[in-house]
Amino acid sequence: MTDFAAVPLPPELARIAAETKGFLPDDEADALRAVVAAHVLPGGVTVEIGTYCGKSAIHLGHVVREAGATLVTIDHHRGSEEQQVGWEYHDPELVDPRVGAMDTLPFARQALFAAGLEEVVVPVVGRSRTISAFWATPLDAVFVDGGHTEEAAQTDYDGWAPHVREGGVLVIHDVFPDPADGGQAPFHVYERALAEGFTEILHVGSLRALRR
Ligand code: SAH
Ligand code: MG
Repeated sequence: MTDFAAVPLPPELARIAAETKGFLPDDEADALRAVVAAHVLPGGVTVEIGTYCGKSAIHLGHVVREAGATLVTIDHHRGSEEQQVGWEYHDPELVDPRVGAMDTLPFARQALFAAGLEEVVVPVVGRSRTISAFWATPLDAVFVDGGHTEEAAQTDYDGWAPHVREGGVLVIHDVFPDPADGGQAPFHVYERALAEGFTEILHVGSLRALRR
């Protein structure tokens, strides 16, 4: 499955991660922790696109804490297209009735507080493109799990892949080579990364990791 050493979550964190709403199966979470841990350096920065309610941020937060590093987790917290009212992945509990729009930030904050990870996980609220436009710090790891339209996925790649340092890792979620299994945008980004010099180093479920 993976050539990377396992990085188990402590039982209390595993419980909180399991109780947090999200879209990361356990085998992919295990692989994500292992492959990111193999690339994170002390003092280094990892970026996640797509915080949602903080599930993957707990997994990554544990990894960066162990390494003495930092995770910046980015989301506008208004949900992806497929999470809006009337769509397949909509969750009515995540709608803020005061504004009549989704707001996952309070859920992510609660999860990170419960996990004791607020010192090492920095939520940044905004659009991926807006933030990447002024980003300048080289990154040990980037986990792309944001919008799934072709435009959103390509924009995430354009904005964040260039910041992955030499020897760093780009991890892409929801890669489905067969259209019957899911949308094709992350798969297209994966193909583009391979064509542009990244090397695949891990594949578990829909999770792919590529090294620069
Ligand atoms: N990583 C999460 C799941 C992320 S779901 C987990 O572990 O469960 C995808 C998230 O990407 C949504 O919360 C959505 O608001 C966010 N998103 C979609 N497009 C975005 C964009 N352009 N900029 C920032 N966040 C975006
Ligand atoms: Mg995903």
